[in-house]
Amino acid sequence: MTDITGQSLIAGEWITPAGKEYTSINPYTKEVFNAFKSCGVEEIEKAVSAAAYAYQQMRKMDGETIGTFLEAVADEIEALGDILLETGDTETGLGLARMTGERGRTTGQIRAFAAIAKKGEWVEAAIDTAIPDRAPLPKPDLRRMMTGIGPVAVFGASNFPFAFGVLGGDTASALAAGNPVIVKGHSAHPATSELFAKAIDAAIQKTGFPKGAFSLLQGANRELGTELVKHPVIQAVGFTGSEGGGRALMDIAAARPQPIPVYAEMGSINPVFLGPNTIKSTGDGIAAGLAGSVCMGTGQFCTSPGLAIMLEDANFEAKMVEALDAAPRGYLLNPRIQGSLQDAFKRFESIEGCEWLNKADFEEGSMTPPNAVFKTTGDVFLKEPELAEEAFGPVNLMVVCKDEVQMLEVGNSLKGQLTGSIHADEDPELAKAVLAILEQKVGRIIFNGYPTGVEVCPSQQHGGPYPSSSVSWATSVGADAIRRFARFVSYQATPDAFLPSALKNDNPLNIFRKVNGEMSQAKIG
Ligand code: NAP
Repeated sequence: MTDITGQSLIAGEWITPAGKEYTSINPYTKEVFNAFKSCGVEEIEKAVSAAAYAYQQMRKMDGETIGTFLEAVADEIEALGDILLETGDTETGLGLARMTGERGRTTGQIRAFAAIAKKGEWVEAAIDTAIPDRAPLPKPDLRRMMTGIGPVAVFGASNFPFAFGVLGGDTASALAAGNPVIVKGHSAHPATSELFAKAIDAAIQKTGFPKGAFSLLQGANRELGTELVKHPVIQAVGFTGSEGGGRALMDIAAARPQPIPVYAEMGSINPVFLGPNTIKSTGDGIAAGLAGSVCMGTGQFCTSPGLAIMLEDANFEAKMVEALDAAPRGYLLNPRIQGSLQDAFKRFESIEGCEWLNKADFEEGSMTPPNAVFKTTGDVFLKEPELAEEAFGPVNLMVVCKDEVQMLEVGNSLKGQLTGSIHADEDPELAKAVLAILEQKVGRIIFNGYPTGVEVCPSQQHGGPYPSSSVSWATSVGADAIRRFARFVSYQATPDAFLPSALKNDNPLNIFRKVNGEMSQAKIG
């Protein structure tokens, strides 16, 4: 990691902050890197004033300019080469194959938002022309479109250092909507964050984009994040991380003199419902698939299936144990995740009526946890709310219910989730009832599959009712992620010369717009 300076990037200037020193840790070797220092309020002030200035330039930009800039950002990420993959792996233990795939997803997302910005239809331009002789009152000319909201603060998660990191989906979608972004770098992978900042810095220089459009404030102090969210220039927050962190920032944002939205994507236990007849006939394959999903990425996915809701089935139980024991142990991301997983194991084990079926060694401080399956009853689950908390790691809790009615009761007891899965081809009545519950509880419903693996496309919904997300309609993945960082403005009786391009009579952007209720690309008048 010879190219890493430990600096932060503020509006085109690389600086060494004076704050607390901190380290990132190689999960494979526990080797530490001491080169990082935390930013504080002084750096926040510089970044937000540059962002406020940049916003005045960005809000007047056309989508072509923003799209070209985002394409340059994706190119510069690729130009970093293997050092990015190696650094990401060294700071997370996720492996080079995963890092390679995640880089592709990250540049793919950025290019998708570049295309969205260039196409221009995301602004949802709508024009209702005047009816001067309408009785009893004339109708005015009204035109509405979406526009950026101003500087956005972004917090990424430790388990997706690229795709939900410095230049992940939140940053890409906020920039695409014409907003400057200030990223609070994750303290667990600062070297990776620095490389991404180098890529966007190079893209800014090459395209002449406003320097204040991006800043990376590195730091390992909670004050940095809280002061950033409190700053009056910040107009929205994109957060991916724990429920505790997301909730803390939501409360801070709500308590500001001007409350602002926090789009927080948080943890989830992603229930999987297993119909009794279905697992009798196809349970072996389902157990193999479920165990694979539980172990993927050492269980460190927000979509990891933490809960299997079923009736007693000794064969399925044995197959799950077999598959989880056969899977190799993976690495945990960092000591904090390690500590909280160890706490989760202790929590499960301390609850009477909750049994660790394949109990194995998990020594204090060990970065390679066992792939674990716990078992409890529906009765115990319903009276022990701690069993419904996320255990971030390769862990599944089987909730064995006394009947199908109790399976539904367990489903109804759950808080909001990112996903819910149903394996019940041979239990159609149960499937129907579970579906009705999941439609009210989750963002994505999966039939005969597993929740890990989030397709990036317009019909994806990655976000669900609280606490899986802070805003249940919002998605942090897919084209609609841009809507989180935009708002509508209506122009009434506004002279054509003053209107933004998307709303002008001659349709200079040649985009589809809703004109008097019909989609149209035509010139008006
Ligand atoms: P985290 O500990 O919440 O950290 C995320 C970021 O928020 C970090 O920059 C952290 O700062 C900051 N932060 C956390 N608490 C804060 C507070 N009270 N005040 C100010 N800043 C705060 O999350 P993580 O451990 O990195 O990520 C794992 C979690 O993310 C899991 O729960 C997982 O399910 C969830 N996740 C969700 C999604 C999704 O799309 N829903 C995707 C990936 C991960 P520091 O760096 O200083 O700690």
